[in-house]
Order: sequence, then structure tokens, then C-alpha cells
Amino acid sequence: MNKHVPEIFGSMVFNDDVMRERLPKEVYKSLTKTIATGKTIDASVADVVANAMKDWAIEKGATHYTHWFQPLTGVTAEKHDSFISPVGNCKVVMEFSGKELIKGESDASSFPSGGLRATFEARGYTAWDPASYAFVKDGSLYIPTAFCSYTGEALDTKTPLLRSMDAINAQGLRLLRLFGDMTTKRLSTTIGAEQEYFMIDKEMYDLRKDLQFTGRTLFGAPAPKGQELEDHYFGPLNSRISAFMEEVDENLWRLGINSKTKHNEAAPAQHELAPIYGTTNMAVDQNLLIMEYLKKIAEKHGLVCLLHEKPYAGVSGSGKHNNWSISTDTGKNLLDAGKTPAENLKFMLILAAIIKAVDDYQDLLRLSVASAGNDHRLGSSEAPPAIISIFLGEELGQIIQSIVDGKTYKGARAGIMDLGIPTIPTFRKDTTDRNRTSPLAFTGNKFEFRMLGSSQNIAMPNIVLNTAVAESFRQFADVLEASDDFDAAVAKLLKDTFTKHQRIIFDGDGYSEEWEKEAEKRGLLNLRTSVDAFRQFDAPKNVKLFSEHGVMSETEIRSREDILLENYAKIVNIEALTMIEMVSRDIIPAVNAYLGDVASTMGAKLSVMPELSCEVEKDLLTKLTELNAKTYRDLAVLKEVELQAAKEKDILKKAQAYGDEVLPAMATLRRHVDAMECLTSSEYWPVPTYGDMMFKV
Ligand code: ADP
Ligand code: MG
Repeated sequence: MNKHVPEIFGSMVFNDDVMRERLPKEVYKSLTKTIATGKTIDASVADVVANAMKDWAIEKGATHYTHWFQPLTGVTAEKHDSFISPVGNCKVVMEFSGKELIKGESDASSFPSGGLRATFEARGYTAWDPASYAFVKDGSLYIPTAFCSYTGEALDTKTPLLRSMDAINAQGLRLLRLFGDMTTKRLSTTIGAEQEYFMIDKEMYDLRKDLQFTGRTLFGAPAPKGQELEDHYFGPLNSRISAFMEEVDENLWRLGINSKTKHNEAAPAQHELAPIYGTTNMAVDQNLLIMEYLKKIAEKHGLVCLLHEKPYAGVSGSGKHNNWSISTDTGKNLLDAGKTPAENLKFMLILAAIIKAVDDYQDLLRLSVASAGNDHRLGSSEAPPAIISIFLGEELGQIIQSIVDGKTYKGARAGIMDLGIPTIPTFRKDTTDRNRTSPLAFTGNKFEFRMLGSSQNIAMPNIVLNTAVAESFRQFADVLEASDDFDAAVAKLLKDTFTKHQRIIFDGDGYSEEWEKEAEKRGLLNLRTSVDAFRQFDAPKNVKLFSEHGVMSETEIRSREDILLENYAKIVNIEALTMIEMVSRDIIPAVNAYLGDVASTMGAKLSVMPELSCEVEKDLLTKLTELNAKTYRDLAVLKEVELQAAKEKDILKKAQAYGDEVLPAMATLRRHVDAMECLTSSEYWPVPTYGDMMFKV
């Protein structure tokens, strides 16, 4: 890239600099106040902003604008309108009003609404989110928006996310005030999402219907080489991937996305991209753009980017690490322990609030990362168990233990601490976390939630984190505001909270079987499948949490639960149908053709030398014929269970049928097909092998 990076960075974004330059002072002030405080935009301001946006966007080559939103499909949606407006005969001017900026109307009936559709009008509205910058891409001005029904029910992921940010702000400010902070005006959570993905050659991809229809391979015997040599992680980038990454970076930088780190991941052809963290709602939008660009730029390089959580069985899957913290508008990170005991006390209380939130809402955190794709990573045979726990590191763990025991903590550097009074020693940031098995790890000044699937919209995990922590903050603030002796009340809160919730802290090997047993003893949840997890959504305690903090109503929760279950069933259904088609039309015919070849070879040999034993041919014919017959029987079973599941009307039972009947039938079928792959001539095998796909990039 020969362009000057600082020049191109953010050049396609209507960001703060552009606003300051192009908006009248008063309008700029009013808009930035809206952004900083999360208050509603003043209507008179919108017209001026819209006009400035339009002029800027046209200079950047835009002819259209679109409200860009995140319906519950998991991907983004957009509908483009041009700026043109006719004047007189055969003439147009370019126009864009404040009204068009603030609100869009969209037919909601084709987006998932989980039953909301039946009771509400089909009309849906998109509403501008001024806190996430508009940008120009592919000739259109993109305006990040929330999407809701006519009656105001959220039909998207952004609305509850913004509400959850308000909730944690409101409750967090109460706590900060109690600690004497009168200057902070707004608390925001910050997110840095590390994105993993696989690359595959487009020609290989085009030969695999399973990848095209489902995003993962439904068959495939293991390649002779996997990731056992650990020679790919952080290894040198090959020139093709390197060129691809360079172009991705350039595009992201133009959109003001701080793409920072790129490296090879554990599995062959697996990579990672990490941006520098930002405010949650913007970070969520940006992660969606990152995924979009990875896919789009890959095609230009004759490659396909696979975002599925488990494209290949037997090698590492792809996830997303959601680094989460809370910071003030004055630039302080509340998860940074600070140097003085008083700051540490605040830090310890916030830590206690997070530990409590994670323990109280394990079920919601688990469901926030649940999906048909992620089921192949979490809780399945070759992945960590689906148990939520927190890693804190040795030092913090010991401090908490001493608080629980009511004993003096003798830290390595910290000296002696008397826990009778609420002073807590300064301690080193535990930056030595290389415990990669923990689902939620404290990494010095942030929490890293590692269970997310690589293809998912990261809004939901953050909605849960924000709201659950807001609830801990609320409870703490209630207690502290009512107490006469602040220090004593904090000390008691810490001791009570750590005692009650210590069970969620675990620093050992999260992948081990012992942990599964230990977690069960501790009474921690182990929701193995997505369907198990989805069912927890509308538990009374969860409805109470979301509705009390104004994040989601009971109706919104119920509808979302239905959508999740429905979507799960649809995904497994597509996988089953793809498998049925590939086995019936490609694999069985290929094996038969090969058998025919072997048989005629044997016939030809015997016709000239009748005394030959033809061991090889006989053995192959016997084994392959047997496997082919088994495959055929498995296929019939799969067809039958798929039909039964498809017929089921009750949405929960339907999802369960797909999970409990269809997926196991697919696994059995796969086993026999993979065994046939190992015996069939590669000339006859109809699809690229694992070796072809992972090592020919
Ligand atoms: P790794 O987890 O691979 O060791 P890093 O420690 O470099 O990676 O950081 C991972 C991500 O955490 C980056 O995207 C980084 O910007 C983000 N991050 C750092 N500080 C914060 C914070 N205060 N809030 C949210 N994310 C953060
Ligand atoms: Mg990480």
C-alpha cells in the first residue's frame, strides 16, 4: 500500500472532525452533547446535520443513502434511496432532510419478529443512532440505525444494546457518586472484538455444496496433517493471504476502523484480525463491517473467507474474543485497579459486581453465545465444556480469598493489609493470563469473554454483560446509599458478595473433565446445547432483569426466544437437506462408479489370468460395498428423522427434534461417508478433501 495511512484513516466517515469542520458551532455542540449523553437529538438540529452529511457524502462519491440496521437474522440489512429529487421537467437536485436522517420506514414483515408480527403492524421503523458515525461505502451514505416495530418493540439487536448501555451508565453513576466522583457525566462500556476466520481457495469452495449452503463441511476425513505440529500459529503469512489482509486493512482504515493486529491462528488456513477497542455500540457496528469486508475482499483474491464456528471437524474452530471494560467520559478505565487503596476499593467493588453478575446470570451469558454453529465448539466432544466461569489470576484470587476468610492478605509486594478496615493494598496487574481455557478471563484492565462464535453479532453478549452488571451496581448502590458508615458497608458488601459468588471463580484447566465434575459440585450450570440455553431466556428472573432495566420487555424476550429456536431448527434443517443431496447425488454415485471400475479391472485381469486371486479388488469391493450399503441405510434414517422434525409444529419440540434426532443421524451418516473417502480413488471422490481445502490456500 503506497497511500499515507493517517490520510486515508477515517476518510469515509462522518466523524467528529468532519462534524466540527462542516457544522455550524451551535449545531455541532448540540449534536456532540447528544452523542456524549445519549439524549435524544433536537429535531431542528437534524435538518442541518442531514444537509451537511449529504454534501460531504456526495463529495465522497455517494448518490444514495441507506438506513443500516441489524435485524434478528444476525446479519445487517440496508435499503438504498437516492438523494435525487425532481425539480421542474427533467431536472433533479440532491436532497436529504432531517426527517429522512432520523427516521426511516421499512416493511418489517419479512424480518424475523418471533410472533410480534401477528399482533403488530407490519410496518417497522429505523431510527438514527447518532452515537455511531455515518460512513460512505459502495456509493451510499450509511446511517447506523435501530429497528423497531410500529408500536415500539425492538426488532433488532442495536436497540436493546443501546438500552443496556443506558442501564449500566445510570446504575454505575450512582456508585461513582458514592465514591465522591462528581465529574463523570457518562459511563460507557468498551469493546475490542478479536475476530477469527478461515480462508479457502474459491475453486475448492465452489466444489463443496456443504460450504456453500451451510458454511461448514458436513463430510471430510481428516487430512494426514492437522495442527499437531503447531507450526501455523503466529507463523509467517503467505503472500496471497498477506495481500488479502493488506487490502482488508486499507478498507477498514478508510471506515475509521482501527484494525490493528493480524496473525495466523492455531489451525491451518486460520487467521485472526483484532481492532483497537472502542465504545460498545460502535464496536458492534464495526465488527459487522469487519466480517463483511473479510468476505468481500477475499473474493477479489480468489479466496473465500469462512466465518463459521466449525468449518472443519477435528481442527480448532473459530471464535471471537469479546474484550469488555467500563470507562468514564473523562477517560478513566474502571477496571484499571489504580495505585491508591481508595481507588482499589472502588475497583474491588466493581470487580465484586461483575463476579456477582456473571454468577447470577450464567444462563444468559451462555445463551448469548449459543447457536447451531457454536454448538460444535462449546460443550461438544472436542471443545471446552459450556460452563461459565471467571479467571482472575493468582493475586486477585488470593485477595478475594483473604476477604472471604476475614484474614490479613500478605501480598508479594503489597505488604500487610488489615481487612477490618476497607483498605486494600496496591497490587500488580495480572497481565500474565495465558490461561486460554477460561471462558471469561480478567486480563489486567478488562474482561475477555471468549465463548463467542466467530460469525455472531456481538450485541447479545454485551447486552447481557451490561445489564447484569447494571443490576449488581443497582443492588450495591441501594445498600450503600442507605448506610451511615460507607466504609463499613463497602467492606461488608465485598465480604458477602465474594463469599456467595466465589464458586464462579476458577483458575484451572477449563477443558478438563475434572472441571466438569467440580463445576457440578459447585452448582454451576452446564447448558450443553443451544436449545437448552435458549429455553432459559424467559425464566422469571431474566424477564425481571431485562424489564426492570428497560432493556427488553417480556414480549420482546419471548419473541427473541422463539426466533432463536426457529433459526436453530432452520439451520440444522438446511444442513440435513444438504447432506441428503450430497450423499444421494454425488457420493453414492461416485463410490458406485469406482466400484464399477474396480470390478471391471478385476474382470479384465481374470480374463487373461484366471488363476489370479485379485485380493486387492475383492477386499475393496467387499469393504466399499458394505460401507455404501450402510450409508444408504443411514441416508434413509436421516430422511425419516428430518421429515418428522420438519413436521413438528411446536417450536421448542421442533428445535429439540433437530438437535436430538437429526444431528446424531447426520453424525452417523458422516462416519460411513468419511470411511468411504479413505478407500475411494481420489480421481473418483467428488469433492475436495480436508487436505486440499486447508493446505492449498
Ligand atoms: P490477546 O487477547 O490476543 O492477548 P490483546 O491483549 O492485545 O490480545 O488485546 C485484545 C483486545 O482487547 C484488543 O482488541 C484491544 O484493543 C482490546 N482492549 C484493550 N483494552 C481494552 C478495554 N479497556 N476495553 C475493551 N477492550 C480492550
Ligand atoms: Mg484474546
